[in-house]
Amino acid sequence: STQTESAAARVRRLDRAHVFHSWSAQGRIDPLPVARASGSYFWDLDGRRYLDFTSQLVNVNIGYQHPRVVAAIQRQAAELTTLAPGFAYEARSEAARLIAEVAPAGLDRVFFTNGGAEANENAVRMARLHTGRHKVLAAYRSYHGATAGAIALTGDPRRWPSEPGSPGVVHYWGPYPYRSAFHARDEAEEGERALAHLRQTVEVEGPHTIAAVLLEPVVGTNGILVPPPGYLAGVRELCDEFGIVLIADEVMAGFGRCGEWFAVDAWGVTPDLITFAKGVNSGYVPLGGVLISDAIADTFRDRPYPGGLTYSGHPLACASAVASIEVFREEGLLDHVRRLGAEVIGPGLRELAERHPSVGEVRGLGVFWALELVRDRATREPLVPFNASGTAAEPMAAFTAACRRSGLWPFTHFNRTHVVPPCTVSADEVREGLAILDEALSVTDRWTTT
Ligand code: PLP
Repeated sequence: STQTESAAARVRRLDRAHVFHSWSAQGRIDPLPVARASGSYFWDLDGRRYLDFTSQLVNVNIGYQHPRVVAAIQRQAAELTTLAPGFAYEARSEAARLIAEVAPAGLDRVFFTNGGAEANENAVRMARLHTGRHKVLAAYRSYHGATAGAIALTGDPRRWPSEPGSPGVVHYWGPYPYRSAFHARDEAEEGERALAHLRQTVEVEGPHTIAAVLLEPVVGTNGILVPPPGYLAGVRELCDEFGIVLIADEVMAGFGRCGEWFAVDAWGVTPDLITFAKGVNSGYVPLGGVLISDAIADTFRDRPYPGGLTYSGHPLACASAVASIEVFREEGLLDHVRRLGAEVIGPGLRELAERHPSVGEVRGLGVFWALELVRDRATREPLVPFNASGTAAEPMAAFTAACRRSGLWPFTHFNRTHVVPPCTVSADEVREGLAILDEALSVTDRWTTT
């Protein structure tokens, strides 16, 4: 029978026999066999095309197979594929120069990692050694990665199986106007109360024990929570008052997602450390890193930094980052993303919300949007309970199935769908996806109680 086995069947069979998948009960998954991808689309091995409203894991910011970035990787592969981190090398120094150039002023050095979790591990280590303090404050409703330290910092259920986590990690509530922990009546009050709560947390934990506040400037997977005006500036002031390092986790929000190089640019706030990955080179080759303030870099001028990775500053990854940043500039992608968000995605999603009672809230910016799905708009009861799985998650599973049947690959998390296409997506492609969302929301509307 293996002689007549289709390519798709063979990939599937070998995958199920030998690949151990992330975050999954291995016996309960059926991964889609993918053949190829281009721009905003990918195709499965049966030839079905999907418009990708997820950018994979919200990382393919430049779209699939961008020819300039592919060519840069090919050129680099022909020249030098690998080099230990201790050497100086053109692709590496050029990538660091460009990343520092697009970063807020005063962040001039880059420590390269292979991804986001390692970036956060190293940022926290730098903050602890710089301050001589141990505690780190991290937000509930956050994701910081799956290594030991990063999962302990994470503020969602993915942390639970790894507990007890890391001593010294303290979680606090960030602002979330739609489901406020502070019973705020509007966005401004939400921002003020979230800041007052963070100040109280700092006071009772003991400011002299706190090395860092770590936050996603715009919270990603946990809801695309855009901070109220003044919130990030307030956190910056609080950190300055107590000598606490502010770490911005820009792994998802950075490199174009918010229509800025870094999300903090939208609020004019400069962190002490920025962690990045994903959009820096769209994951064409694994890459992440930490952008380091001059003051923190000075701590390690005469004292060794105790950390490193065999593949730190990998030539293929760095060459792809250089090409990707050049493409962002030459194609005007930040402007494109801002315009798409303001003129096409935002208005389009708000129009869907008017027609579909299962849409509770629309929020976001750039190519970074969430629809919060509810059973009842008045009570805001989520369409599925927090952290639902199995039959409890059925309405969301039905939504996903409806999208996929019509050729759209949607991002879902709890009771939300996120609209997070590549930064290079066209207005017409967005409209094509919105039309499919329109059909799929008729499915979720059936679960509403009003
Ligand atoms: N931080 C944020 C905000 C993320 O969204 C992610 C991944 O989704 C990470 C960190 C972890 O990055 P990685 O999976 O590259 O380790």
